[in-house]
Amino acid sequence: MTSRSFLPLVLAGAIAMGGVTLVAGPADAARPERTVPVRLLTINDLHGNLEPPSGSASRILDPKGPLVDADGKLTGIVGGKYSIAGGAAYLATHLKQHTGRNTMVVAAGDLIGASPLISAAYHDEPTLDVLGQMGLKASSAGNHEFDEGYTELQRLMKGGCHPVDGCSPAGEWEGTDFDFLGANVLKERNDRYALPPYFVKSVNGVKVGFIGLVTATTPTIVSSSGIQGLKFTEEVAAANKVSRLLARQGVKAQVVLVHEGDQVTPNQDPSACSVTPGNGSRIASGLDPQVDVVVSGHSHQAYVCKTTDPAGQPRYYTQGSSFGRVLTQIDFQVDKRTRDVVRSTVAAANHIVTRTVAEDRAVADSVALWKARSADIANKQVGRITAEIGITAAPSGELPLGNLIADSQLEATRTGGNAQIAFMNPGGVRAPLTHPGSPAGEGDGVVTYGEAFTVQPFNNLTQVITLTGAQLKTVLEQQFVGGPNNQAFTKILQPSSNFTYTYSRSAPWGSKVSAMKIDGVAVTDTQSIRVAVNNFLVGGGDAFAELKNGTDLWSGPLDIDAFVDYLGKHSPVAPPATDRITVVD
Ligand SMILES: [Zn+2]
Repeated sequence: MTSRSFLPLVLAGAIAMGGVTLVAGPADAARPERTVPVRLLTINDLHGNLEPPSGSASRILDPKGPLVDADGKLTGIVGGKYSIAGGAAYLATHLKQHTGRNTMVVAAGDLIGASPLISAAYHDEPTLDVLGQMGLKASSAGNHEFDEGYTELQRLMKGGCHPVDGCSPAGEWEGTDFDFLGANVLKERNDRYALPPYFVKSVNGVKVGFIGLVTATTPTIVSSSGIQGLKFTEEVAAANKVSRLLARQGVKAQVVLVHEGDQVTPNQDPSACSVTPGNGSRIASGLDPQVDVVVSGHSHQAYVCKTTDPAGQPRYYTQGSSFGRVLTQIDFQVDKRTRDVVRSTVAAANHIVTRTVAEDRAVADSVALWKARSADIANKQVGRITAEIGITAAPSGELPLGNLIADSQLEATRTGGNAQIAFMNPGGVRAPLTHPGSPAGEGDGVVTYGEAFTVQPFNNLTQVITLTGAQLKTVLEQQFVGGPNNQAFTKILQPSSNFTYTYSRSAPWGSKVSAMKIDGVAVTDTQSIRVAVNNFLVGGGDAFAELKNGTDLWSGPLDIDAFVDYLGKHSPVAPPATDRITVVD
C-alpha cells in the first residue's frame, strides 16, 4: 500500500515512494549502462467498462483491422477498417504482452464514474479491484472520479464500506493500492492539497515522478454538492509548482498525467497526431521543460503527438481513446548521472486492445464474479408503476416516460439549483418501463434498479441554468428543422408538468412556439427562468445551441439517482399524461 498521508507542498522534505517491484534488466557487469530504460503503459477514461463494451463504444479505427459496419458487425464488405476492442480481461492480456523491462502501468483519469451497472452497482469498487489486479500504480483524478463526491473518492482510496449502501458482497472495501493524484485540487479553506499531487517511483536507482492534474473545468461538469470546499486551479501553474519541487528533490524524470485533452480529425489512425488545439495542447505545450512526457485523457480520443515544450524541445503528448480500447506504450531512457530523461530516446505508440488474444484468466474470473454480484443490485426494487410507462411519442412529441423523467429532474433540482421547469432530451430515454413486472418482479409493476438504469444509462448530471423568456423560446424553436442550428430532425424536449406551450406545425421556423406558461402564468421575454436540463443539453447537445448561452450553471445529482429517488417517493407511479404541449396546424 502506498502511504495515504501526504504533506503540503512547502513541507515536503521527503518524497513518498512506492515499493520497488519492477523487473530488473540483464546486468552487464563489464560495462554498466549509463541509462535506465523505463516503459509506461497508460490508459484513460475506462469508465468502469469491465465487460467488453458493445456497439459503437466497442469500435476503434484500425488500419490493420477488418471491415465492419456501423454496428461493429464484421461484414468484410462495407464500412471502415475497425477493430472491436476493449474488455478488462483482454486489456489485462495486452498489458502483460507489452510489459518489458522496468514497466509500470499508470492512467489519466475517469477510470470510474459514468460506469455500466456491473461497476456502478458497487460504487465502482469492482473496477478499482480489477485495476489493482492489473498493477496500476497511479492515476490522475478525472472529473468523473468526483461524481459521487470528494468524500466518496477518499473512501474508495482508503477503504471502508459505503456510508449508505454498506459493504459490497465482497466485504469491507480495502482501498486502492494506487492514488488518484490532483496537483490542482486544493482545499479552499487552507490551500492544501485535497489529493496527493504526485507519486514517485524508483526504477533501478532512478526516480520517475508522476504529477496528476484534472481539468480545471471540473466544477462545471460534476455535481456541486460533492466538491464543496474544493477548488480546481489552472493546470499548468499547478503542475509547474510540483515539477520544480520534484526537481529540487532530484526527481528530474517527470511525467504529467492530465485529465484533459483535445479532439482529433475524425478517422485518424490511433497513433497519428492531428488534433484541434484545445485545452489539452495548451497544457501539453505550456508545462515546464522539466516535464518529459504528457499523458492525457478526457476527450476519449486516440493520438500520439509531439508538442514543443517552452525550451523548444519536442515532447510527447498522448491519449488512448476510452473504455479500455487502446493502451499507450511510452518508452524512454533515464540518464543515471543527470537523473533526467534523455528526451531524444522517448518513443510512444498506441496499441489497440483487440479481442483476438486470450482473456486474462484471473481478471476474467473477477469480472464474472462482479457481474454475478451486480445482479443483486440490478434486481433491487426501487419503486412501482401502475401501468406501462412507454416511449411511444404522442402527436405532440411527448413520451410518457420522457415527461416522467423531466418531472424527476425538476424535483431533484428545485432545492439546490432553484429550478422552475425541466426538460429532458427524447433521445436519452432509452427503454420503456414495462408492466407487469420485471425479471425480478412478480407481475405487480415492480421497477428494479436494473430497469431504471436501462432507461437512464448515461450517468448524465442534472444541471440548472438561467435563461430569459426570449432565450427559452429560442430553445424551443431549435427543436424544429429549418433553423440556423441545423436540427437534423424535429426533437421535442420533454417538459416538466408545470410548463405548457403551443407550437404550430405550419408556422415558419422562429414563429412556431407560443403561449409558454410556467404554473399557468405566461412567460415574458425578459423574465429570468431557472431551467433544469442534463449536462448533455447544457453543452448544446442535439443541436440545442441556445442552451449553451445559459448562465449561473448549477450541477445537481446524476439523472439515474434523480429518477430512482422519484420512483421511490411517488410509488406507485402512474404514466403521466402527454398534455403539456398543444399542437396546432
Ligand atoms: Zn473526463
